[in-house]
Formats: sequence, C-alpha cells, structure tokens
Amino acid sequence: MNSKQARLSSDDGHVADASARLLEGLIVDGSRGQYRVETTAGSITCTIRGRLRKQLVYPTSRSGRKSVQKVQVREHDPVAVGDRVRLLPTGGGAGVIEEVVARVGGSFTRRDPDDGAGKIRSVAGLDQMVAVFAVREPEPHLRMLDRFLAIAEAQDLSALICMNKVDLGIAPWLAERIAVYRRIGYPVVETSAEENIGVGELRARLAGRTSALLGPSGVGKSSLLNALEPGLSHRVSAVSGSTHKGRHTTTGTRLVPLDGPEGGYIADTAGIRALAVDRTVLSRLDWCFREFRPFLGSCHLSDCTHVHEPQCAVREALRDRLLDRERYDSYCRLRRGDDAATEGWDDFE
Ligand code: GDP
Ligand code: ZN
Repeated sequence: MNSKQARLSSDDGHVADASARLLEGLIVDGSRGQYRVETTAGSITCTIRGRLRKQLVYPTSRSGRKSVQKVQVREHDPVAVGDRVRLLPTGGGAGVIEEVVARVGGSFTRRDPDDGAGKIRSVAGLDQMVAVFAVREPEPHLRMLDRFLAIAEAQDLSALICMNKVDLGIAPWLAERIAVYRRIGYPVVETSAEENIGVGELRARLAGRTSALLGPSGVGKSSLLNALEPGLSHRVSAVSGSTHKGRHTTTGTRLVPLDGPEGGYIADTAGIRALAVDRTVLSRLDWCFREFRPFLGSCHLSDCTHVHEPQCAVREALRDRLLDRERYDSYCRLRRGDDAATEGWDDFE
C-alpha cells in the first residue's frame, strides 16, 4: 500500500484498499459542495473530500499515481462541471470525490452572481465552442464572432462556426466572409434547422466532445438543438432556467449528454455571460488571431502591438494581402476595447 492509499484509509477508516473501489466519472452538475457525477455505475451524488480543497491529486500516468502534487488552493470549488474525477461510492447513490483526473481542454471563467461577491466559477473540460449565427434575421455580427474566436484561442478550445438559416439564402458578401474563416482554419457548418440542412454534419462535429453553443438570441440555437435530438433544447434549458422549480437552483453550468454511440455533451451556457476579453486574452491577443501566428516574432520591436509600430511584420502581411483587413480591424478594436470589448456579450443566452 503506498502512502496515498494509506492516507485514504486513515482518513476514512477504510481498511480495504480504497483505491481499488474508486470509480471514474464526469461531473455533470453541481456546485457548493454537491456534485452529480456520471459513472459507468450510474449517476452518483457526491460530496468532495475535504483534503481535496487543499490538495489536488493529479495522477501522472494511467498505470498509477506516480506523483502527488500540491497546488495552490483556488478560491472557488476545486472541481468544476466537466472535470473527470475518481470517487469512492459510499452506497445509496452517494459518494465522495477523491481525485481530479488531469484536466483536459479549456475552461470558461465567468462571474456567478449567485455565488457571492466576485467569485469565479469555471466550466472545465470543454473542448469546443460553437459560435452560432444566422445568415440573416438577425444579420450575423462578425465582430462578435471574432471576439468569440479570440476567446476560444486563449482558452485552447477549438472553435466551430455554425451559420444557421441557410434556407434564407447566403448573401454574396457573407459567402466571401465564410470563405475567409475557412481559409484561416475554422470549420464552418452551414445549417438550416428549419429545413434540416447540415444537421448531420453538426451532429458529427458534436459527437464525443463537450461543446458550448453560443450565439445571440434568435439565431436558432434552440431549433438546432431540437433538430439534433427531439427535446434537446428543453433538456438544456430545463437545467438552466431559473423558472425550473423543485430543485436547488444554481447558476452553475451543467452538461447535457447527447445520444449516439460516440456520446458527447452540450454545456448549458445560460450562466456564461461574462465571456469577456480579459487580461489573459489581451496579453496575447495577437496569438489569438491564429492567422497572425506565422508573422509574430518577425516584427522589428519584440513587444510590437502591430498597431502603429515601424517594421511590423503583421502590418506588412496585411499590406501584402496575406492577412484579411476585417479580421485585422477586429484585432485593433479588441486591443483598444478594454471595457467596451465585453459589450454585446449580454446578448448571449
Ligand atoms: P435561439 O434564440 O437562438 O434559441 O433561436 P430559436 O431557435 O428560438 O429560433 C429563433 C427563430 O428563428 C424562431 O422563430 C425559429 O423558428 C427561427 N429559425 C430557427 N432556425 C431556423 C432556420 O434554419 N431557418 C429559418 N428560416 N428560421 C429558423
Ligand atoms: Zn508587429
């Protein structure tokens, strides 16, 4: 028995090899010390081992715990929806979270108005942000899209662009813009929830991943979810709506499982409003415009902001039409933006 198992035993009074009984699962719901974890043995309601608040255990290999790493205690919950954890079942559908399995993917950080003054909660384990816009009604807001993409890059999330309502016809200017995004490397799915166009492609891109669907209201997010699976929109909003009675309403983000052999989850993003361009984004905003990357490092000044400096490789690339003017303008706006950069995010559901 290694020292960690020994500690588990003495903590708990379990004499058996406790680690052998640990189940692995995904936190799909919860906050304030109560978590719902989906495991192969079903859904288990868990509390969290007190020790975890001081010490997160990150196993370094599949074969066993090679290292026990002390990390700084975060102000907020040490685990978040989307984390994979190991838990000790205590019977009756209950359990105790013992370990956080090393985190993959990015996380959103947002302010939770319900969670006390300025506390930040996060949604871990997201792999994908899906930016949903309509080709018209409402007109697509591409500055918002660029801000969204920059935040996805800063979080190391892959981004998928979904252009819905293609049954209404794609204007030539928009077709050109879509081509620009594809050239930069962002996949664009063209869908119509109404006429069931592109829904299969969207489904395939959601399968096996944990995605957050974001976009202004009216673009068809609910309709798309329902086109993917009947009732899905309700399932996503039922867990998020403040009108949902009979449960402890938290504004914590939850994950809604997708049908299908490959699984996957949709993160309910009702609470994610403060998707702000914060300091972490601003500190490497140029890198968050992925098409700039080949030129970064070639500017005359090492701390070039690519706005006004002489011998700037980014602006030279722009002049040589290797970079897109509109995207560069979005970059400049976000740089200048500060507080204004978060404007418009309240439109997001
Ligand atoms: P949400 O606010 O993003 O969830 O958008 P909704 O799903 O509520 O849709 C807003 C409106 O757009 C509704 O009237 C839908 O019927 C309509 N809508 C959604 N998808 C499509 C589409 O693919 N084509 C057309 N023409 N209308 C759509
Ligand atoms: Zn530069």
